[in-house]
Amino acid sequence: MFGAVPKSLWEQQAPSDARNRIALAMRPLVVRGTRTMIIDAGIGDKPHGALSERFSVDRARSLDHTLAEAGITPEEIDIVLASHLHFDHAGGFTVRDSGGRLRPRFPRAQYIVRRGEWDEAMHPHARSRAVYRADDYLPLAEAGVLQLVDDDVSIMPGVRVRRTGGHTMHHQMVLIESGGTTAAFVGDMMPTTAHVADPWIAGCDLYPMDTLGAKQQFVKEAAEKNILVFFEHDPAIAAGYVREQDGKRVVQPA
Ligand SMILES: [Zn+2]
Repeated sequence: MFGAVPKSLWEQQAPSDARNRIALAMRPLVVRGTRTMIIDAGIGDKPHGALSERFSVDRARSLDHTLAEAGITPEEIDIVLASHLHFDHAGGFTVRDSGGRLRPRFPRAQYIVRRGEWDEAMHPHARSRAVYRADDYLPLAEAGVLQLVDDDVSIMPGVRVRRTGGHTMHHQMVLIESGGTTAAFVGDMMPTTAHVADPWIAGCDLYPMDTLGAKQQFVKEAAEKNILVFFEHDPAIAAGYVREQDGKRVVQPA
């Protein structure tokens, strides 16, 4: 998760177990506007075999619980928007029904994916194969609910996507504007609050220098415009404001 940052530094922020595993969340974001949208959907409930054990996936709580707590049924979701298609973001896009068939998890939703990310997921290479699972996204195309977007487009009034690259070539963040305020769902550009610091870039990022550039640009903008930033994988802080404090970048939890 922290790439070139030595463990002696990161373990102060993220204590690990004996196998170097740290606590991480998978936290989609629901946006209600002219339509109801969910951004990413976590790892989902399909079995993941060895991967579950490797990452010690905690299945005590799932989208079923969190949607219910938010008072939302899967049928109410109009749009599912993907930051990218890695298994920990797109796993919840599909489910296996009692007949063993894969189907979209949100029965009424259109699923929006960036075309470059789709192409990459359909043709993974040696370094990305382990994090893409066709079962998470291929059934969307087969069900006719997939919508590919090419650019930094508006998804619905007040919501637009912006390519960050870095983590994957076509990884995108989401900007949400409402009542004169702006929020950003930054996905794996800054997965946790520890990643607001420039050199804290995950080792699995395919293009770390692009992550750095996108992050530097965004953090400046976030501070200037007082953007509420959502941290998808942070185990404790769902969202906060990035501030400069004594020359250090910090997150003030919202
Ligand atoms: Zn991720």
